[in-house]
Amino acid sequence: MASSWITALKARHPRLFRNVEVCGFEVPDGWRSLVIPLCQDLEALGIEDLAVVQGKEKYGCLRISIEGDWDDPRWEQVTALVQAAEDQSWHVCWECGGQAETSGGSTICGTCLAEQRRNEPKLLLSAFAKAASLVGLTLEEQSAVLGRDTDQIDRMAHFVGIVGLAAQAFPGEHGAEGWLRRPNTNDLFRGKSPLAFILENDQNLSQTFGHLRAVVRVW
Ligand SMILES: [Zn+2]
Repeated sequence: MASSWITALKARHPRLFRNVEVCGFEVPDGWRSLVIPLCQDLEALGIEDLAVVQGKEKYGCLRISIEGDWDDPRWEQVTALVQAAEDQSWHVCWECGGQAETSGGSTICGTCLAEQRRNEPKLLLSAFAKAASLVGLTLEEQSAVLGRDTDQIDRMAHFVGIVGLAAQAFPGEHGAEGWLRRPNTNDLFRGKSPLAFILENDQNLSQTFGHLRAVVRVW
């Protein structure tokens, strides 16, 4: 669901956003302080056929795609405004809008990063529940996947990763579940289903994750 500031922004600039639905406009909340004035400035140029076609985060930076008449003498101003907002985003926390420096593809301040780390187990737990329901694990199977050792955080992460990769490789409605439950002749599984292999002992989960990560191409 779109953030309410994005919904409001689109409503305020219907002409500017008339073509945005195809590629989408998903900008992190912390960057609203860049995007709202940018749209005002673009609108103020009064260029009829100017449109924002996409907004997103890429490699820790804001990306805004626009279309319009490149021959318009004001086009240089358009690209300068967009470029300025994108350049600024390297220094603005994408969560809270505070000061940040981009690092490893994330532009997030220390406070938000700490908050995110604190919430990680909770997020992981809900991701695990979602993955388990996607592939129809019974409660018994869920607790077997989590294993008996204490490193359940790692096990949850691996299982979420396995389901995500399997869903990517087999995108149909029950694609991931089918892969997980069907006997598999791959050298690793040797005729067992991947799920049966995973439940066989505590080591096989991470092996299965490693196997899938190696064979499924991640875009
Ligand atoms: Zn922050």
